[in-house]
Amino acid sequence: MQNKNCNVLIVGFGPTGAVLANLLSKYDLSIQILEKESQIYNLPRAVHFDDEIMRIFKSIGIFDKLIKKTIINKGTKFVDEDDNLILDWPRPRQITDNGFYPSYRFHQPDLEKILRKNLASNDNIKIYYNSELTELKNKGKFVKAKYINKVTNTSHIIDADYVVGCDGANSFVKKFIGPETIDYGFEERWAVLDLILKKHNKNLPDRTIQYCSQNTPATYCRNVGRRRRWEISLNKNFTEKDIFDENKIWKFLSKWITQDAAVIERKTIYTFKSLIAKKWQEGRVFIAGDAAHLSPPFMGQGMCSGLRDVSNLFWKLAYCCHFGHKEKLLASYESERLKNVKEYIITTINMGKLLNSIGDTNVSKTVREDQDGSKVMTSIKPPLGPGLGSKSDKLRGQIFPFVNLNKSNIKYFDEQFDKELVLLSTQEFNHPNIKHININKYKELIKIFNNLNIKALILRPDRFILSSLQKNSDINKFVNKSMLQFS
Ligand SMILES: Cc1cc2nc3c(=O)[nH]c(=O)nc-3n(C[C@H](O)[C@H](O)[C@H](O)COP(=O)(O)OP(=O)(O)OC[C@H]3O[C@@H](n4cnc5c(N)ncnc54)[C@H](O)[C@@H]3O)c2cc1C
Repeated sequence: MQNKNCNVLIVGFGPTGAVLANLLSKYDLSIQILEKESQIYNLPRAVHFDDEIMRIFKSIGIFDKLIKKTIINKGTKFVDEDDNLILDWPRPRQITDNGFYPSYRFHQPDLEKILRKNLASNDNIKIYYNSELTELKNKGKFVKAKYINKVTNTSHIIDADYVVGCDGANSFVKKFIGPETIDYGFEERWAVLDLILKKHNKNLPDRTIQYCSQNTPATYCRNVGRRRRWEISLNKNFTEKDIFDENKIWKFLSKWITQDAAVIERKTIYTFKSLIAKKWQEGRVFIAGDAAHLSPPFMGQGMCSGLRDVSNLFWKLAYCCHFGHKEKLLASYESERLKNVKEYIITTINMGKLLNSIGDTNVSKTVREDQDGSKVMTSIKPPLGPGLGSKSDKLRGQIFPFVNLNKSNIKYFDEQFDKELVLLSTQEFNHPNIKHININKYKELIKIFNNLNIKALILRPDRFILSSLQKNSDINKFVNKSMLQFS
């Protein structure tokens, strides 16, 4: 870094920006964050995340604090107007390959507080609150950013190696990169009601219920502690005006709960959209999270997708900060992420159609019919889109399991090797640019290698497989070819 103020400037300190800062804090890099508000947005939006995201939280060291604020989610049922089950999406209480339960419920402000606290003692990170980005210029080898401090009304300049816009749905950075979006066609206005029960109520469902109806599609969410959420599609049966009329709200809720049993924490209206930005990068400027894509919330994957974005991007940025700008490496961010997030959005839209009773239960390829005729869905796990690695390598773009290297004394692979590319192989190997692990020392890794029938594997810091080598192939050639993408 020459005469620059920082390596990476993050614009926006919502969950996407805060997780990116936590991921980058693993390296010796200087990070600055601009946030236009003075504090965390204190009302919940996201209420669910999955195993892949818990793995990211574990990697940034917040698992122990966060787990106390979450519950394990039992799953989602889609029912018709007579409450008959039409599609079940259970989330079994079993640890997945990612090392955690398939699905969790949480309160977004709890997560955001933990993420921010985790950065508090890091001297490499500077956070500017009340500071709104107003101008960006790609200057070739760096980016010039101008922001206004809204309290002092003064403007300031930051020169950064890279800028990442995690600045939400109305992203300034997105407009700079190119405002065009791909619209997948779902746009609906929904009311969101967050309630806190006065005492526990065993009669309320303990999982998410999607009430499919052409009249009043609605969602019930069993959230953490005494929090419960109802989302209602706005139409002639429940109108925008009704949300401001407590009598109408309680009349709607009377199927589940009476006014004396809970308080309404908030009521608001959202327009659920299904959009992906056409461009995620311009030179050294990137977008991530809601700035890059918007999804209706029926799968609980909007924030999760944003966190997958920054998990894909952080190590590529760190690599470039340490070893120089690599166009191909950085360009892989958009192509790898776009296809993955698109699959979540399309599946969510299919769920939206089912909710409106205009689509059928085939919301994804993972729906199967049981012997008794009932329909059951398993979670989708789309692979990365094209990018790094070879198309002909079947393991490329798959996520590597969460492994404990030592059964008697916990030593997670993720925690040992989470900053750089790692070569795992069945034989000794030396290469100046890649860390090497001989798997013969670790029973768990030998098992994985035997199952996959491979001799070597290169793993990325985001735990995706960069490339794999079948038995009886030349390891030197394999490593040199894989590393070409980083030169
Ligand atoms: C009703 C509802 C339910 C949802 N449920 C789920 C769920 O269960 N699971 C899930 O994964 N997702 C869910 N989502 C989606 C999820 O809430 C969002 O995807 C997530 O909050 C987006 O995070 P973000 O950090 O990208 O953006 P934001 O949270 O919007 O943060 C952007 C930040 O950037 C700041 N900012 C903006 N412009 C500037 C600027 N020019 N300069 C400086 N700062 C700026 C803003 O102040 C803000 O703090 C839900 C959404 C809704 C509406």
